[in-house]
Amino acid sequence: MSRAGRILRVDLTGRKIEKEPTSSYVKDWFGGDGIGSRIICTEVPPKSKAYDPDNIITFNMGPLTGTLRGGSKCTVMARSPLMFHHVLYTSGMGGQFPAETKFAGYDNIIIKGKADGPVYLSINDDKVEIRDATHLWGLDTYETQTRIKKELNDPDTQVACIGPAGENQVAYALVYHDINATAGRQGSGGVLGSKNLKAIAVRGTKGLKVANPEKFLELWNQFFAATFPEPLPPDHWSRTSMVDCADIETEIDIFMWGGDLSNLICPPIPKEKTMREFVKEYFVGNSGCAFCPEQCYVRINVPGVGAGAAMCAMPGEWQTRFRTYDPDLWWQCAMLTNRLGLDCSSTCNIISWLMELYEKGIITAADTDGIPMEWGSREAVLTMIEKIARKEGYGKVLADGIVPAARRIGKSAERYARHVKGMEYLNYWMWPGGALGMAVGIGGSGTGIDPSGVESAGNIIQSILEQHPPVPGMTKEDVGQMMTSLRSAKSELMSGDPDAWKLFEDDGKTMRTKNRALLDLAYENQIRLADLAGVCDQSSSAGPRFLTALRNFWEEMAAFLTADLGVEYTPDMLKEVVNRVRLQERGYDYLCGLRREDETMPEDYFRPMQTRQWGTRVFLTRELQEKMKTEYYELRGCDSVTGVPRREELEKLGLKDLADKLDKLDIKVGAAPATEGAPEASAKL
Ligand code: SF4
Repeated sequence: MSRAGRILRVDLTGRKIEKEPTSSYVKDWFGGDGIGSRIICTEVPPKSKAYDPDNIITFNMGPLTGTLRGGSKCTVMARSPLMFHHVLYTSGMGGQFPAETKFAGYDNIIIKGKADGPVYLSINDDKVEIRDATHLWGLDTYETQTRIKKELNDPDTQVACIGPAGENQVAYALVYHDINATAGRQGSGGVLGSKNLKAIAVRGTKGLKVANPEKFLELWNQFFAATFPEPLPPDHWSRTSMVDCADIETEIDIFMWGGDLSNLICPPIPKEKTMREFVKEYFVGNSGCAFCPEQCYVRINVPGVGAGAAMCAMPGEWQTRFRTYDPDLWWQCAMLTNRLGLDCSSTCNIISWLMELYEKGIITAADTDGIPMEWGSREAVLTMIEKIARKEGYGKVLADGIVPAARRIGKSAERYARHVKGMEYLNYWMWPGGALGMAVGIGGSGTGIDPSGVESAGNIIQSILEQHPPVPGMTKEDVGQMMTSLRSAKSELMSGDPDAWKLFEDDGKTMRTKNRALLDLAYENQIRLADLAGVCDQSSSAGPRFLTALRNFWEEMAAFLTADLGVEYTPDMLKEVVNRVRLQERGYDYLCGLRREDETMPEDYFRPMQTRQWGTRVFLTRELQEKMKTEYYELRGCDSVTGVPRREELEKLGLKDLADKLDKLDIKVGAAPATEGAPEASAKL
């Protein structure tokens, strides 16, 4: 029913457009990025690289995408130009584009090959065309969307596109849609650029039908009542966008100050420089993905700089990285990276790293085209963003990611390059629960590193509740107690252990790791369920938004999907598909070159950290990380030493072919250097 029923396949080399039924994938791969994942893992040779024409990029809508519960979310999936061995990634994107694609009649868009010049794909229900985009090449993401809508004479057409960064194949370029919907982080923009594909424009008028509308509506009413028991507060924007998180102080400050992880403590923020004050001044309204009741984008218009929206990591990343509290600079950076089509987290990580290298004397202004990379310098930040996106001057050194850049710079630059599997880390990976949780999640398990997918239970709930006590007049202690019970309830719901989220044992000193791998696995599985079903991962129990929602996401999804599709689904059926997808992806990544040694955190995570609450201490050791990784591998169905999916697990899931291929690998644990990878990116300059 709420499947559109067709997969659109486009081969840009041969200019071939085909449609095939979704049904052949449904039994084993269910939908959404289960299908995208299957197509890439079976059709892209592991020896291929991200920018090879035979890399496939997929846009994946799930069965609930376009319905009231699903809203408008999809995932974008391909081999990543940024990450080691160009492993597979998945990146969530919202806006209106995903629902519109379903309305046009497609569950997945699969693109391979390379056009012989700039093109864009135009989808208008059944009419699909590859159109010339020579006149659009070089335009920024805002202008591109406007021009295509005008050209197609339809303001309701939804456009996902790349900016100059994607055209220039910057490894952390993103796909941009609307005012704030992106497939960011792992390099989707560069992959489209390597195919000469400037944009995908889609218009759909077919609509969707739900198999059992009465039941669906009943479930929706229950979901809504559980998720939004009270009307959203007037400052709803701050709760949902994480804008406030850039301003707050917690046990360990969420955001490190500058590039040095040994000091996680931010100096006090002058009130007039807080994000809250800035956003209050320039706020124009909330918006978000189609049909979503949360509407978590914060729309901001700063005269002279521009209008756009902020959410998620963006405010905190820009606000704190350059050792200056300057909201105006933050907004300029946000607007510039959005327009040029760069991932904001990677870009500001790399620029703050340059500032650290400059401070330490590893680089000088003579290296960086005469620009002194001084902490807080507006000129340095804004100029370097342009240079990276356009691959001009020193931008060429930086455009392939932090690891290739460190190797080009030499000296001790690599020592300060903080990344996981080649991808620059996010500031808020330094959360207290996160440091340990992510040692498994991001460092260990995640091939598609989406931070919301791997945050442990020590997550944003804490920050949000501190800022917004749910009952007026609550003291900080009251909020602390409530927070603890909420985290315990969530932890129990997801892992069966109410204490799995805790950072320390009862003595307050010994790091607690028991069931941490189990909790991270539960988070990872929930996020993948959301991606398969076509709902926002923020609306799963793993998401920090929809924060009042303590519910069984597996049962909820099974009920919604049954009402939606008219076929009985159970939590166990869905769990089996999630497991199949994840084991297939892990196996495929190993065929591409991934090894246990790659799955680790930056060196600084194992050094003493200075914190407000616990003083200076080591939080994470390599031994603890390896212990949790081993536990994770076992729980995931992988060999506890190598991390390779076990044959018997693969065979149970119908993946014998993959097991046979993995058997041929010669895997020696401890043999691969941790920073091996991105060879293609390193070679280019
Ligand atoms: S909560 Fe999710 S679906 Fe809703 S507006 Fe935000 S990103 Fe979009």
